[in-house]
Amino acid sequence: MTDHSPALLPTLKNYFGFDSFRGQQGSIIESLLKGEDCLVIMPTGGGKSICYQLPALLMEQTTLVISPLIALMKDQVDGLRANGIAAAFFNSSQSQAEQRLLLENAGTPELKLLYVAPESLSALSTVLDETHISCIAIDEAHCISSWGHDFRPSYQQLGFLKKSLPGIPIIALTATADKATRQDIVEQLNIPGAAQFLSSFDRKNIALEVRPGHNRISQIIQFIEQRPGQSGIMYCLSRKSTEKLAEKLQQRGISAQAYHAGLDFVQRTKIQENFIRDKTQVICATIAFGMGIDKSNVRWVVHYNMPKNIEGYYQEIGRSGRDGLEAHALLFHSYSDIIQLRKFTEGATNKELQLAKLERMKQFAEATDCRRKILLGYFGELLSDNCGNCDVCKNPPEIIDGTVMAQKILSAIARVKESEAMGTVIDVLRGAQNAAVLDKNYQNLKTYGIGKDISWHDWQHYVVQLINQGYCEIAFHQHNALKLTDFSKKVLFENWTVQFTHPSFVKEKMEVAQEK
Ligand code: ADP
Ligand code: ZN
Repeated sequence: MTDHSPALLPTLKNYFGFDSFRGQQGSIIESLLKGEDCLVIMPTGGGKSICYQLPALLMEQTTLVISPLIALMKDQVDGLRANGIAAAFFNSSQSQAEQRLLLENAGTPELKLLYVAPESLSALSTVLDETHISCIAIDEAHCISSWGHDFRPSYQQLGFLKKSLPGIPIIALTATADKATRQDIVEQLNIPGAAQFLSSFDRKNIALEVRPGHNRISQIIQFIEQRPGQSGIMYCLSRKSTEKLAEKLQQRGISAQAYHAGLDFVQRTKIQENFIRDKTQVICATIAFGMGIDKSNVRWVVHYNMPKNIEGYYQEIGRSGRDGLEAHALLFHSYSDIIQLRKFTEGATNKELQLAKLERMKQFAEATDCRRKILLGYFGELLSDNCGNCDVCKNPPEIIDGTVMAQKILSAIARVKESEAMGTVIDVLRGAQNAAVLDKNYQNLKTYGIGKDISWHDWQHYVVQLINQGYCEIAFHQHNALKLTDFSKKVLFENWTVQFTHPSFVKEKMEVAQEK
């Protein structure tokens, strides 16, 4: 990838100080310079910014950067200016004179990058044309999709950009988007032909671990005391628990501070700075903490509570080990958290979707397969070998040959035309006689009743494992229907073997988790 773009290397070196491109950066930049629309999916810390910042320097007019995080724009712009790059942000807090100057500079070498929140775009209408703008970068592009985990209504208007400026290339970037969300992003932005760049999501250096959530506090204290001086972030659901936890840790002599959106701006900035400068070892935070924090030596992330979904979880643990050195992600799994999280979805416009994503998170926590396989599978990436760096790999459960059961499940999914959720698929396998089955004449299918001998719950255990291993997937936007994947075919037609854990393994684990 590096040899793709030697002509770009001097610019990379002069302005950013790097000797080579990382991952697909070079190809992405070349594609953009050719005028192609691009969709870039790269994990947090992967190096997305350079993908539009470097081409901005080589293009004649101004690159517009749309970003939802006004608070971070200033940092980004300061960083760019320190590297001698003409960058600025535009927002409503600026004086009219300041804004006018920015508009005058648009399209000139005085302004290579202009950052703006989607809400402020309309104020730029006079410069939104090809004489002023050479490229549009849309950061955190998953915010446009209600299938993503961080939908923002202000992003929905962005579809007009391609319509009114068809000649200007758009680069959409995000760290978290499952398949359906990716599709939705390119559709809504009107860039269906965008070149897609999917980087590997694998962060091998982060050890993954899930533990039952009883006696969390003493487990955490032990965890931290085993890692003297190592920076870490502890994510909690509520503001109150961040404070309670920070206090408990302080009592043990651990340097810890709470961080949440209820603190004022000055306090928050101070806490962040202390953490970045290694003056505070541990931050107990709500998910308000971490976005855009560029601290490379965070050695661990603990989820005191379950996150709402896998996207959020992956993004949060991704804040550790950005320097590539060993890091540890520990998730506590408890049923009371799940109940609490279910309550949070009440009244949400996309409640069904949120519940389905939460269910997926729960399945991850209960999983008996290599956790990295599950995570990567969730983002559409198949890991052929177990990772060796998660708790399941290190302490593997007993394995049984699941090939025949997998074939039965997958052919049942195929026979119901990939239109049914897990419950009905299992009903078909078990030959159930309920309305969901009989109304659609599923009793006439070849697979009907071929799995009578196995209990409903055991089937459920196997189907979840198939999903976890990437052999089928849940279409959240189609009533959670089970869909086949490219890997299903390998099981159905190429005799791939599938391994399952015995259902009793999970039961034992759950019993441990529930006793308090
Ligand atoms: P993202 O936006 O994907 O989270 P950033 O663009 O903030 O990631 O980059 C993450 C870190 O990687 C930054 O510290 C950046 O300076 C560094 N980085 C980016 N590209 C390169 C590269 N080609 N070589 C070395 N470091 C890089
Ligand atoms: Zn593993």
